[in-house]
Amino acid sequence: MTITTNSAEETQQVARDFAATLKGGEVISLIGDLGAGKTTFTRGLVEALGGTARVKSPTFTVMNEYPVNAGAIKRVVHIDFYRFENENELPALSLEDERRPDTVILAEWPNIFKENIFQSAINITLRHVSEGQREIVITPTG
Ligand code: ADP
Ligand code: MG
Repeated sequence: MTITTNSAEETQQVARDFAATLKGGEVISLIGDLGAGKTTFTRGLVEALGGTARVKSPTFTVMNEYPVNAGAIKRVVHIDFYRFENENELPALSLEDERRPDTVILAEWPNIFKENIFQSAINITLRHVSEGQREIVITPTG
């Protein structure tokens, strides 16, 4: 599914609509260059699931947790891999351990990483088209 948005607010609305399809236990890879809108998307998703904290980029903390309340979903884990040089550094984080039925994991995934480390994930690619425009592609994998 491909969607074009014309503002950060529209991208957050796409995230809100997408959030309504989640049941808990999903892993979502947000793939795109710096400034593509990955954190913006996460902000809309956390808000739609009832999170009240403002989503901040986890670039320096690597991983942030947000309590939410949407049926079975009680937690969003937001990860940013931009600090990492390559996939070899990743297993130390034991990310699959964070995957739980009450949790949705969102991982900002740099374009430089070749393949996803998650066994199954929903890939969301955000592409910078012009200053205010982004192309968003949502693809389930695994
Ligand atoms: P990333 O996490 O991918 O590095 P951010 O979400 O932090 O990106 O930043 C995206 C920037 O682009 C924000 O400043 C946002 O306001 C701006 N922007 C402009 N148009 C859009 C759009 N259509 N969708 C998302 N962000 C947009
Ligand atoms: Mg970001």
